Amino acid sequence: MKSFLVDQDGYYGEFGGAYVPEILHKCVEELTNKYLEVIESKEFKKEFDQLLRDYVGRPSPLYPAKRLSEKYGCKLYLKREDLNHTGAHKINNTIGQILLARRMGKKRIIAETGAGQHGVATATVCALMNMECIVYMGKTDVERQHINVEKMKMLGATVIPVTSGNMTLKDATNEAIRDWCCHPADTYYIIGSTVGPHPYPDMVARLQSVISEEIKKQLQEKEGRDYPDYLIACVGGGSNAAGTIYHYINDERVGIILAEAGGKGIETGMTAATIQLGKMGIIHGARTYVIQNEDGQIEEPYSISAGLDYPGIGPIHANLAAQSRANVLAINDDEAIEAAYELTKLEGIIPALESAHALGALKKLKFKAEDIVVLTVSGRGDKDIETYLSFNEQL
Ligand SMILES: *Cc1c(COP(=O)(O)O)cnc(C)c1O
Repeated sequence: MKSFLVDQDGYYGEFGGAYVPEILHKCVEELTNKYLEVIESKEFKKEFDQLLRDYVGRPSPLYPAKRLSEKYGCKLYLKREDLNHTGAHKINNTIGQILLARRMGKKRIIAETGAGQHGVATATVCALMNMECIVYMGKTDVERQHINVEKMKMLGATVIPVTSGNMTLKDATNEAIRDWCCHPADTYYIIGSTVGPHPYPDMVARLQSVISEEIKKQLQEKEGRDYPDYLIACVGGGSNAAGTIYHYINDERVGIILAEAGGKGIETGMTAATIQLGKMGIIHGARTYVIQNEDGQIEEPYSISAGLDYPGIGPIHANLAAQSRANVLAINDDEAIEAAYELTKLEGIIPALESAHALGALKKLKFKAEDIVVLTVSGRGDKDIETYLSFNEQL
């Protein structure tokens, strides 16, 4: 049977793999040889589950959104990752990876961050585990995301502003990889999404798959069947989406809808719609769609949402799109903002701007009244209030 999960060589169809500098081969190989054994072991699972329950606050609720259901003519449930400690799904992954790093005897944690959300989630678990934490962040982003920088510092992390290139996420990533090359023996690199060389996409998807595992149980309780008709999630690199679909990925009864950031519109050049506009390339050690110019240079993506403006896309999702297993929609800035205001008014939930892109997909879909739809609210909107307000003033 065809599977959409990773194959033995670290590929999803023609996407994925591990394209890393010679000096990192041993590190990546060590990780590839270790990760499954560790994360499938009884002791790891016990510690991971306990922290997810007592520290993160899992299981996150599956909330039947009554007013939104009426509006869109289906049975709509919201998977509330916004209620997690630190306000988003990212903490599921960083907890898992730091437990793995410890079991691999690593002493030093490095990470890259764009908006700062992954940096905060990493600094949080480093404080929890008493490990050294170094976060690379483009200088432009350091200035734009001041609050998250202060949070990371308060949590004890060292934030290193990167001044090469455009001074954003891509440049921070290059710097993190360079650091890893210099300290391969004692350093563990925590990647924040289903991107990077194999085994990262598979590892991050497995760590986030607690989301779909819970959805199965919660739907069984609420609906007497353990699968929905549709799953909807936003995609930046793809980790909350991968976690949402993981246990359903090969179940063709379940439709998968992915919302990427259209920015100001896919025809405007100011966009982060990588699946619709990207061409095959190598980014961050993986073969996948990349937004690039004719010379193969990576182009700076744009989205109003800092968490979605990644110029690549996880190889899992590139493959789902290429095989038509997923329906990918580009949701523009204004559509996301409108959807965020709608959720706030109808349900009293202020979503993260990223999650608002998933909500923006609802308007573009047709449902039957009996359809069960699960939409993941990947994070809360506290960090985005300024953006919501300034947009509203423009209206
Ligand atoms: C980082 C982030 C995203 C995008 O990352 P994925 O890996 O695609 O999930 C989405 N929502 C929130 C709230 C985030 O912080």
